[in-house]
Amino acid sequence: MLENKEQSRTSLSELGEFGLIEHLTGQIKIKNKSTVKGVGDDCAVLQSKDQVVVTTDLLVEGVHFDLSYVPLKHLGYKAVMVNISDVYAMNAMAKQITVSIAVSNRFPLEAIEELYAGIYLACEKYGVDLVGGDTTSSTKGLLISITAIGEAKKEDLVYRSGANVNDLIVVSGDLGAAYLGLQVLEREKQVFQVNPNAQPELENYTYLVERQLKPEARKDIVELLKSLEVKPTAMIDISDGLSSEILHICKQSKTGCVIYEDKIPLDPQVISTCEEFNLDSTTIALSGGEDYELLFTISQKDFDKIKGNPNLTVIGYIADESQDCALTTRANEKIKLIARGWNALSEE
Ligand code: ADP
Ligand code: MG
Repeated sequence: MLENKEQSRTSLSELGEFGLIEHLTGQIKIKNKSTVKGVGDDCAVLQSKDQVVVTTDLLVEGVHFDLSYVPLKHLGYKAVMVNISDVYAMNAMAKQITVSIAVSNRFPLEAIEELYAGIYLACEKYGVDLVGGDTTSSTKGLLISITAIGEAKKEDLVYRSGANVNDLIVVSGDLGAAYLGLQVLEREKQVFQVNPNAQPELENYTYLVERQLKPEARKDIVELLKSLEVKPTAMIDISDGLSSEILHICKQSKTGCVIYEDKIPLDPQVISTCEEFNLDSTTIALSGGEDYELLFTISQKDFDKIKGNPNLTVIGYIADESQDCALTTRANEKIKLIARGWNALSEE
């Protein structure tokens, strides 16, 4: 996990702010025709014939990430994923990002290069242009703020507020793995602090750790739905856990819902690790967060189009506003869903 290899260290002050920006952004090749001008002027210039969506996220060292087990390249990659995931959740396509960083002089140039290697890898894979940003110093730690810009035809955009009674609730992929990956990494960090020679034992948790360190935004699901000619009625990405996200959809759509516990998609590694850690896998899926899957609702008439697709699972349906948002358990009990985000869970 943590390699102690000899690394060269070039101090950031050797380059200066402009030297650093030039060093980091000098190689960019623009991919999208809506990018008229990227890095290098006072503003980037964009042109779209469609509607434009904008989203931003701020990541703070010690709050959102821990560099003792998150490699900087992964951090850069994930910071982009977190942002473009929100663009896909609008049923839009991500086209540009800006990246702003504040760095303390504790970081050598080589560390920032690693961060940008992850950012560029994400841009390459998802067809996104890095078109600008800002660079400044911080007295302590690293801050990264990314803004993502996307495009969609007006009639293709999907809001949280469009779910209708009797619509089916669908989720992509599987849930809970990213949270468990974090638990595994935290445990290994503690072992390492007690015994720095301990080798991390991660073989049984590869999927979980990958989901935590290298999440993928579900651009493929947006493309899949388009090819199936299914337009969701409402959509959101799962950053804070299924429970909190379905409550957002229901609140904004003014509906209730029913989710079936036995339908929630779980990877076998999530099930076995929950047993080992003595955790309830349903609770983890509902409240774990950081899965970056898409949660959406579709009209029942579209069910045949998605039926049997291994990437998509129907987990429940939208109910009338007079009913609660509820989970039907395996024992056929109804439990009211509550929004328990990341913090509530980690305080347990
Ligand atoms: P200004 O003084 O107008 O804010 P800067 O010197 O900060 O300009 O930035 C010069 C150019 O480099 C701009 O195009 C800006 O968007 C881009 N830029 C600055 N910092 C970064 C960064 N960390 N990542 C990507 N592009 C950056
Ligand atoms: Mg600037």
